[in-house]
Amino acid sequence: MATHVPNRATPPDSHAAHDSREDDYGVWRRPLGSLPTRLGFFVLGVTLCTALVISAISLDTTDAFLREKTQESFPVVLERTASELDTWYAARSEEAERFRHDPVLASYWNDLQLGGQLARRAREEIAEQLDRRLAGSDEFKAAFIVDAAGNTLLWRGAKVQLSVAMQRGLRDQAFSHAERWEGHGIQIASVRFGSTGTGAASLHLIFDLESLTHILNIHGRLLEGRISIIDGDRRFLASSQGDPLPELFELELPATGETLETVDTTGPEGERLIVSAIALPQHDWTLVIEEEYSRAYARVVSATRRVLGINLAIVALFALAAYRFAVKMVKPIEALSDAARRITAGEKNVSIPEGGSGDEITVLTRAFSEMTNRIETHAREIEAAHRDVERANTELVKRNDDLHRANEVLAQLSVTDGLTGLHNHRYFQDTLIREAKRVDRTGEPLSLVLIDIDHFKAWNDRLGHAAGDEILRRVAEVMQTLLRSTDLLARYGGEEFALLAPGTALEGATQLAEKMRATISETRLFIAPPSEHQRVTVSIGVALYRGDRKRLFGDADRALYRAKASGRDCVVVAEDDIEETTL
Ligand code: GH3
Ligand code: MG
Ligand code: MG
Repeated sequence: MATHVPNRATPPDSHAAHDSREDDYGVWRRPLGSLPTRLGFFVLGVTLCTALVISAISLDTTDAFLREKTQESFPVVLERTASELDTWYAARSEEAERFRHDPVLASYWNDLQLGGQLARRAREEIAEQLDRRLAGSDEFKAAFIVDAAGNTLLWRGAKVQLSVAMQRGLRDQAFSHAERWEGHGIQIASVRFGSTGTGAASLHLIFDLESLTHILNIHGRLLEGRISIIDGDRRFLASSQGDPLPELFELELPATGETLETVDTTGPEGERLIVSAIALPQHDWTLVIEEEYSRAYARVVSATRRVLGINLAIVALFALAAYRFAVKMVKPIEALSDAARRITAGEKNVSIPEGGSGDEITVLTRAFSEMTNRIETHAREIEAAHRDVERANTELVKRNDDLHRANEVLAQLSVTDGLTGLHNHRYFQDTLIREAKRVDRTGEPLSLVLIDIDHFKAWNDRLGHAAGDEILRRVAEVMQTLLRSTDLLARYGGEEFALLAPGTALEGATQLAEKMRATISETRLFIAPPSEHQRVTVSIGVALYRGDRKRLFGDADRALYRAKASGRDCVVVAEDDIEETTL
């Protein structure tokens, strides 16, 4: 649904206004400054923090739990392995003991040390017996006999090169010497015959410790770690798989019968190791367990990755959801801002999309639509009122013009004679005053001519008043044709006319007066004249302005009087010093 504001006109700059919003509303148009982005980042930050804290706590708990488990399991495995090794050790001791009670060895032992034929025989018999016993056991690698001076009297089985220290220590020990030979450990068990004093020969049995590997393997597999046996000189004797790491030997080993606490150490390639050890009480072996941290805590590591992965996915989902929600929320607000801006720019056809979710923004949108509708209505009303005012104003101007024209007509009428169309008495007087002032200044001549129709009363009486009016109009017309543009002819009274001639001296004025008289006299004023002899005539008095208006009129009037008195139909000129001249 969209609310349309009625279209009146779209301003041509609406697009320009649209483009300029980058400048006007750049604040919320910046991608990182927009509300959705900020909300997205806020939710991302909050959920990330929460997820990291929860992950850290849960992983720490898991780590502690597994560490506890490891610390519990290592000693158990060590104890079990040690117990099996003890059993193995006991079995080997027993076997050695059986050599002591061997009848062949017992019967030839003394002969062996005598020398000569008997000794040779004894060596052969003992050698045969030892070969037999060696063949019957996997554990025996070799057997040899040394005399009291340490010389080897007899050697059967694999020829093992014993170290000097080993040879020196052979004499008194019963089952305590270990040695490295051909990459693995060997253990030497010494057997004594007869009296155990010095000066007697002794039998030494060499056990191959490689046979312990399977025992170590079984327990090592349980842990996914490695179990190794080292001797008192930290030499590697056997291991569940491969060689032990050299770092093991840097560890402080436990004293006999004691167990080393589970400790963390670092391998040669920087890997973390967990190590525990136990010193076997019967001999100088130390049993060592080592396990790579990544293996021991494989479940923690994988749990860490899983938890982190899930948490990050949840965080991303929440941030995305927040962003989408904000985008949806901001969209109608943006539309409102856009509409407001376009309305401000003067655009008329502004549609405001209205969301249907019924939330506060919908209410705001509706209120905004209502507001814009009202603004439009008011704008229309104002426009209509404006048009009315313009119409009234036009009417007023027209009436004012009419009035002006009427005033002009009135002004014209006020200075015009209604019957003849000539100027009236008042206008004539005003002009005379003006002209008199002017000629006073310039010294130009100014003449006055007074014209009176002869026996007009008689014409009136005879032909009627209307005919009298007609005569007045015709006389005025005739006189008008003879004038210059500067001359002013006015109807001065009932059947009297006055002519003011600026720039005209007495002579010129007299000539003009005579011409007027003659023309009127000769003109047939009637289509059908009352009689052949009856003509309309005028008498005329002429005077020159001599610096006094009253005198001018007096002079002209006297001259006219004289003209009447002289028999009418003539012109009389009033002269200053001389008697008026009758023409
Ligand atoms: P005179 O030759 O001595 O001038 O004789 P007159 O009859 O012309 O002189 P008078 O002054 O006695 O008469 C003037 C007459 O003019 C009187 C009046 O009735 C007439 N009259 C004045 N104004 C008008 C007018 O406007 N129309 C008409 N028809 N007659 C007028
Ligand atoms: Mg008169
Ligand atoms: Mg008259």
